[in-house]
Amino acid sequence: MLEIRNLHARIAEDGTEIIRGLNLTVGKGEVAAIMGPNGSGKSTLSYILAGREDYEVTEGDILYNGESILEMDTAERAAAGIFLAFQYPVEIPGVATMQFLKVAMNEQRKAHGEEELTTPDFIRQVREAAGALNIDMDMLKRPLNVGFSGGEKKRAEILQMSLLQPNLCVLDETDSGLDIDALKIVSDGVNALRSPDRAIVVITHYQRLLEHIVPDTVHVLYKGQVIKSGDKALALELENNGYSNIIKDAA
Ligand code: ADP
Ligand code: MG
Ligand code: MG
Repeated sequence: MLEIRNLHARIAEDGTEIIRGLNLTVGKGEVAAIMGPNGSGKSTLSYILAGREDYEVTEGDILYNGESILEMDTAERAAAGIFLAFQYPVEIPGVATMQFLKVAMNEQRKAHGEEELTTPDFIRQVREAAGALNIDMDMLKRPLNVGFSGGEKKRAEILQMSLLQPNLCVLDETDSGLDIDALKIVSDGVNALRSPDRAIVVITHYQRLLEHIVPDTVHVLYKGQVIKSGDKALALELENNGYSNIIKDAA
């Protein structure tokens, strides 16, 4: 579903190369974890997948269902079923979260040639999904992410995901700022999205999240490259021994 081939990318503004020959394949139905020390390029990778214009791809390709997405803008990628939950979610002032959700869901339906949701259908779907994530309907009257706590932002991201049902979900540091109860709720929300038709990429610095969202594969990102891949045992090894051994072996 996702194939990243020899990707090189730099910051558009000053030309600093951050992603330096990254290879990664994630199959349909797979849950892949990307781990790595701070500053290794994990968030940058998520921005590049989203199509943010402050990064330039200089070499390599990103294939989604076998086709390059490099020429697609952010909206086209979203319409194609790619959803990114960022480490620092974007605030959307002036638009109630409910309204934002309705527009996003209807945009997606339009892209698939489906009719707009009726208001009762929309409300029913939101109530159901919000209930599962322990989200108060009052929170959804507020503008998206504006003044939301860390935990509320993460829940709002998972809410969008469960309503939009994307094919490829990328979650960057979904565990940061969550207490143990919120972590459980958010993880359950992600696990509910596991499906043979969907790929999920979980980016995390810590193994903790992976106790709740158990990955099929684990990839270690360091200095803009995947330096080691394995199964969930690799995440445990990292938790016990840190990144230094793997970094030494790769050098
Ligand atoms: P991670 O998410 O793995 O902690 P990041 O992708 O946030 O790593 O950052 C990788 C490196 O790229 C860091 O050294 C960071 O400072 C740098 N970087 C990323 N984006 C920018 C930017 N827009 N401007 C300057 N430096 C950046
Ligand atoms: Mg970081
Ligand atoms: Mg990061």
